[in-house]
Amino acid sequence: MKQYRFHFIIGSQYLYGEATLRQVNEHAQIMVEGLNRNPSIPCTIVYKPCVKTSAEISAVINDANNDEACAGIITWMHTFSPSKMWIAGLAALRKPYLHVNTQFNRDIPWGDIDMNFMNLNQSAHGDREHGYIAARMRLPRKVIAGHWQDETFAAEVGAWMRPAVGAVESKRLRVMRISDNMRDVAVTEGDKIEAQLKLGWQVDHYGIGDIVDATDKVTETEIDAQMAEYESFYKTDTDKKEAVRYQAKLEIAIKSLLDLGAFGAFHTNFQDLHGLKQLPGLAVQDLSRQGYGFAAEGDWKTAALARTMKLMAQDLTGGTAFMEDYTYHFEQGNEMILGAHMLEVCPTLAADQPKIQVHPLGIGDKEPPARAVFKAKSGKAIVVSLVDMGNRLRMIVNDIECVNQPQDMPNLPVAAVLWKPQPCLKTSAEAWILAGGAHHSVLSFDLTAQQMADFAEITGLEFIYINKNTNIPDFRKELFVNDAVWRMQ
Ligand code: MN
Repeated sequence: MKQYRFHFIIGSQYLYGEATLRQVNEHAQIMVEGLNRNPSIPCTIVYKPCVKTSAEISAVINDANNDEACAGIITWMHTFSPSKMWIAGLAALRKPYLHVNTQFNRDIPWGDIDMNFMNLNQSAHGDREHGYIAARMRLPRKVIAGHWQDETFAAEVGAWMRPAVGAVESKRLRVMRISDNMRDVAVTEGDKIEAQLKLGWQVDHYGIGDIVDATDKVTETEIDAQMAEYESFYKTDTDKKEAVRYQAKLEIAIKSLLDLGAFGAFHTNFQDLHGLKQLPGLAVQDLSRQGYGFAAEGDWKTAALARTMKLMAQDLTGGTAFMEDYTYHFEQGNEMILGAHMLEVCPTLAADQPKIQVHPLGIGDKEPPARAVFKAKSGKAIVVSLVDMGNRLRMIVNDIECVNQPQDMPNLPVAAVLWKPQPCLKTSAEAWILAGGAHHSVLSFDLTAQQMADFAEITGLEFIYINKNTNIPDFRKELFVNDAVWRMQ
């Protein structure tokens, strides 16, 4: 995460004289050094000397726009910086934007305070002037107020950096489609041009023949090396070695195409496996473990979302994964959802060492595929879905609590996750379905609904949040109002 840079831009003007401007810069440097030492800040904050004119502001913002490693700007008005000076620069801004309303001094120096102190420490009104112009220009932005040495402040700034990184990485994401959507399925469809305009996702199709050609090029030596890799992460729980070796071959072939085209995400489609012996199972799981985004059945939106969220969660260890709502447990007072997939559950969710097993698949008409089977972690998490509403993309997030599997499921040969959605299964499911949320989602133990809301703000998505306060009448009203508002956009 440290490779991502956030430019810290302090606004002022020439009114106060050189001595004051020198102090402004000294304070800003101390703050940047302090924040960079704080473990709550995952990325690097870069100090920029304070800007005093429209030309300087445009220059510093263009510098941020053109810095590949820059994932956003952080603005702060130590003194008063007249906001007409900011119009040209902010109009050109193409990076995520955080405005911090803070102050170098925590306390008012009661005995010593004079007009010099007042002139130097003006963020209480300087940041209001700055906030107005961003509001007037309708700029997507985050505002965080508080003293810069306060832990909550640093934690909020640090949390916001992850969606900013996600938005910047999203702009360069390429998705490799292997085949098209599953026939007749609606929710996995969508407008790829709109997705590229909003999110930057370039979604390109490859035929299954391209995968077959790539598998033909894989050597036995490469498969041996991949098998050794499997041994280091998973426990082999099968004597069907050839079936596992075939997944190794698939993984090497798919990875070679992903890396050749700089693709970060991909999908498969079990209806289109001509020339392949097995549906990619363990191969997909192991690529997901390495950070590639994946979704099944032609679902390029969820694959790209999985990749983006994995990049937002870099260096965190909770797990972020493609998921599907499968089956309900309707026991009164203990309702929960069992999430899984045919094969492809990401091992970052595993609570124990995954076991490689080979079982027949009741779907797709191919040889029994190897897959990694495990029990999942427990704890607070979110599930996120992205659907195309025709005139906009809608993101739906639900807070959930993952729970330990209460009983063994000896006849279920896939990894599974159990969770209790907020506020309860009944309301969550009703709200999710009313909003048009998909059966596919991305589950994350590492990211919060607030971070997804920030991502939606930066990228211009509609954001729908199902949480402990959700009730259906208000939720319906929100959907109705949103629909009217988005029709006017
Ligand atoms: Mn599915």
